Amino acid sequence: MKEPQPRAIHLKDYAPPAFRVETVDLDVDIREDHALVRAKLEIRRNAAGPLVLDGDELELVSVALNGKPVPYKVTEDKLTVAEVPDSFTLETVSRIVPQKNTKLEGLYATKHGFVTQCEAEGFRRITWFVDRPDVMARYTTTVRADPKKYPVLLSNGNLIASGEGWAKFEDPFPKPSYLFALVAANLELLREGNLSIYVEPGNLDQAGWAMDCLKRAIAWDEKRFGLKLDLEEYKIVAVGDFNSGAMENKGLNIFNTRYVLARADTATDVDYLNIDRVVAHEYFHNWTGNRVTCRDWFQLSLKEGLTVFRDQEYGADTYSRAVTRIQEVRSLRANQFPEDAGPMKHPVRPQSYQEIRNFYTMTVYEKGAEVVRMQHTLLGEEKFQAGMRLYFERHDGQAVTCDDFVQAMQDASGIDLQQFKRWYDVAGTPVLSCIACTKSSVVTAWPSWRLKYRRIPAWNFSSPSSVCCMRTTSAPFSYTVMV
Ligand SMILES: [Zn+2]
Repeated sequence: MKEPQPRAIHLKDYAPPAFRVETVDLDVDIREDHALVRAKLEIRRNAAGPLVLDGDELELVSVALNGKPVPYKVTEDKLTVAEVPDSFTLETVSRIVPQKNTKLEGLYATKHGFVTQCEAEGFRRITWFVDRPDVMARYTTTVRADPKKYPVLLSNGNLIASGEGWAKFEDPFPKPSYLFALVAANLELLREGNLSIYVEPGNLDQAGWAMDCLKRAIAWDEKRFGLKLDLEEYKIVAVGDFNSGAMENKGLNIFNTRYVLARADTATDVDYLNIDRVVAHEYFHNWTGNRVTCRDWFQLSLKEGLTVFRDQEYGADTYSRAVTRIQEVRSLRANQFPEDAGPMKHPVRPQSYQEIRNFYTMTVYEKGAEVVRMQHTLLGEEKFQAGMRLYFERHDGQAVTCDDFVQAMQDASGIDLQQFKRWYDVAGTPVLSCIACTKSSVVTAWPSWRLKYRRIPAWNFSSPSSVCCMRTTSAPFSYTVMV
């Protein structure tokens, strides 16, 4: 097989998709040595041109348009149908081999069954699709597998029908393809109310802590952000062979066992804390990432920076705010600062990429969270929460950009953040000199500071050498810069 030539994709070239997929009716039949995938897509034209669907290692069996055969062209990674009406149903049947899928993207085998990983571009390894995050569709999924080997069948949304060896799910929320998930496996279940944690056989005694964490995260998000669980069923699946840490698929999170399983005699305090933060992080994505998602992968920090900020705040509210912050800043200095000063440096919102998988970085996640934290510091909790409410009011069910987020913060607060947006587009770490300017003989706990730039990346601020005074908050470390 010929390796494709690396090709850079640029943010400036973004254009809306030529076709939108409104509904997806998927039937995945997992057999002994392959799986057959039947996909029925309701598609609507958005712009002129042929229909081009993405695929990766799919063996195309058949294509039908409105129930009839249609001429098409297929290559390794594209299925093109030149002549299509403005609104139509496209049905494809493809054969995939999850048993031999060693890329661990799309549908693949684990020790006790099959799971999926579709972020960023794994869905195209399951079926032909307009595989980009700004195509949000409603999914109905039927999973079929040998009931003796794989008794647990799951997908996003609610179970609407089932029988021996099959189950059908309907997800009421439109979602991008990267949030699709499917599981067919032999698993054990810990269930409380509408919350389920599935683990591999023999691990059930280690799932209790993750369940506690999930309940705590749900209660915190409702109290601090006013965001409620919008699902009838919330499921977590933990398998040893899951390669991506944890994934926030709508209503069906898939985790590596190290972020779910803990028992006092085998897990450390750090293990317990990591589970708490990761379970919370994936849960918080249900709103910041899933209800409002990214327009394109350049906006990855829209969901990751914001959700890391939210899980940091969850940690601060749940444990010691000061200790939590010290740990986060230590990690930022040890890991993100070198990235930002080295050959791999890139802005929180990169301008181009050849392979999006390489941008799941400390900069996009951790610096992205700091950029959100600065907005929180500038606005204060009340106005920041007003900004969050406005963001959801405007963009619920949409795929948007980092600019849309900052705009909501600006409009809700009345604070001009136009210049602030540059934090998203410039790499590098500013260096400040900091002199305490409290002259009073009374030493206050948190004096004012005079800040001066010593080194600053190519910010191009309107007053690049400006000096500002700020008062620190009660947090032990804060690097908000006001210009
Ligand atoms: Zn995340």
